[in-house]
Amino acid sequence: MRIKKMLIANRGEIARRIIRTCNKMGIRSVAVYSETDADLPFVKEVGPPHADKSYLNVDRIIQAAKETQAEAVHPGFGFLSENAGFAQRCSEEDLLFIGPRPEHLEWMGSKVEARRRMKEAGVPVVPGQEKSLESVEEALSVAKIIGYPVMLKASAGGGGIGMQGIRTSEELKKAFASTRQRASSYFGDGTVFMEKWIEKPRHIEVQVASDHKGHVVHFFERECSVQRRNQKVIEESPSPFLNPATRQKLLDAALRGVRHIGYRNVGTMEFIFDKDGHFYFLEMNTRLQVEYPVTEETVGVDLVEWQIRLALGEDLPEQGEIRQWGHAVECRIYAEDPQNFLPSPGRIDKLTLPKKGARLDRGFEEGNRVPPFYDPMIGKTITYGNDREEAIHKMKTALSETKIEGIKTNLSLLSDALDSPEFKSGRYTTRLLDGMTNPVGGK
Ligand code: ADP
Ligand code: ADP
Ligand code: MG
Repeated sequence: MRIKKMLIANRGEIARRIIRTCNKMGIRSVAVYSETDADLPFVKEVGPPHADKSYLNVDRIIQAAKETQAEAVHPGFGFLSENAGFAQRCSEEDLLFIGPRPEHLEWMGSKVEARRRMKEAGVPVVPGQEKSLESVEEALSVAKIIGYPVMLKASAGGGGIGMQGIRTSEELKKAFASTRQRASSYFGDGTVFMEKWIEKPRHIEVQVASDHKGHVVHFFERECSVQRRNQKVIEESPSPFLNPATRQKLLDAALRGVRHIGYRNVGTMEFIFDKDGHFYFLEMNTRLQVEYPVTEETVGVDLVEWQIRLALGEDLPEQGEIRQWGHAVECRIYAEDPQNFLPSPGRIDKLTLPKKGARLDRGFEEGNRVPPFYDPMIGKTITYGNDREEAIHKMKTALSETKIEGIKTNLSLLSDALDSPEFKSGRYTTRLLDGMTNPVGGK
C-alpha cells in the first residue's frame, strides 16, 4: 500500500518535521491550523492548508482529511496523539492513523493499567499500587504500606502535570482532594494512584518499535534527567550513567514489556533509576517523543518514516542491524522565564541562529508570535559528536550563537546547566536545575 496524501493533526516544529519526511517519501501533506497559527512556517510549507478552530477538534480534523482527500493522519505529539477515540474514528473513516492500535493507546494512556500489564510481563515497576484511590483514608493506608515519601499521580496525566510528591500523612491529607480535582480538570479523568517517590532519580527511556509481525526492536536509550516541573529540557543519547550490563538489562526489560502487550509501531518505554542503580517502569508513551532526534542522530534512522512504514505494514530490520555511533544532545528552547519557568509568549522580534554545527528543529521564524494557548516550546537544537564532550561543546557553541529577542527564553539556563559540574561529569539527577538561578537574566 502507498499513501498519496497525509493530514498532519499538529502544529509548530513537529508538523514541519513530519512534512519533511512526507516530502522525502513522496507523500503530499495537509496542515490544519488554528487562527492564531496562520502565519507560522508549517502552514506555509503545505498547500492548501485548512483552517481549524483547535487541534483537539476530532470532527473538524476528520472532515478536513476527507475534504482534502487525505488517506492518513499523523497526530505528532501532545494533542490527539494518545487519544484512543481519535485513532478509532480514523480507522472507522478509513483513514490510516500513523501510530499504534486504539487498544494500546487506551491501555498505556492509563498509568494504572500500564503498571498492571508491565508487572504481568515481569518488568520492574515503581513500587506502589495499581489501584485507583477513592478516599483520603484509603490513600493514607496505602501510603503506610508503600512508605513515605510517596508520589500521588493522575493516571491519565502527561507533560509532567498531575503529580505531587508527598512526605507526610499531613501533606497527603492536604493534597489528596486537590490532586484529584486537578486530574479531573486537566485530563477529564480524576483517577489517582500512588507510587514510591524515588528521590534524586534519573529518567532513562528506551525507544522501541514493533512491526505487524510482532518483531520488536529497540533503538537504544535516551537520558532525560535534566527536567523542570517534571518535564524534560535537555536530553542525550547514549546515557552517560549506564554500564553495558545495566544497559542490556534495561533494553531487555523494555522489549519484554512491548512484546507482552502486543504493541505495534514506534513507542517509548520510560524508566526511572534510583540512586542504587535499580530501575523501574514509569510509563509508556505511544507516540513520538519530543526528544526522538537524539536517537535519529546517533542511530541514523528517520523515526517519522518508520512510523509511516510500520503503519503501512512494512518489516523492521533485525536488532543486530541497528547500531549506535557517537553521542547526541538536545536542548529544548522554551519561551519561558528561566527564573520561575512561567511561559513568556509574545512576538519574536529578532531571531539569530547558528549557521552550522547543529540540527535546528523549530516552529517559528523571526516576526512570528509564540501564542499563549499551547506548549511554549520554540524549537529544539540538536548536536552530534564522536563523543559526549564533542556533542556538548557543539551545543554550547550553538546556544551561544542563538539570540532571541522580544520574549524571555530559557537559553541562559540551558547554557548554565551544560556548564554545571554535575552535567559535565554525567552524574546528574532530575534535581539538577533545582535552585540553579539565572545570573545573566533572560537572553
Ligand atoms: P516527552 O515525554 O516526549 O518529552 P512531553 O511530556 O514533553 O513529552 O509532552 C510532549 C508534548 O505533549 C508537550 O507539548 C506536552 O505539553 C504535551 N502533552 C503530553 N502529555 C499530555 C497530556 N496528557 N495532555 C496534554 N498535553 C500533553
Ligand atoms: P508524565 O506522563 O507527565 O510524563 P511520568 O510518570 O513520565 O509522567 O513522570 C514525569 C517525570 O516526573 C519523571 O521523568 C520524573 O522526573 C518525575 N517522576 C515521576 N514519577 C516519579 C516518582 N515515582 N519518583 C520520582 N520522580 C518521579
Ligand atoms: Mg513521561
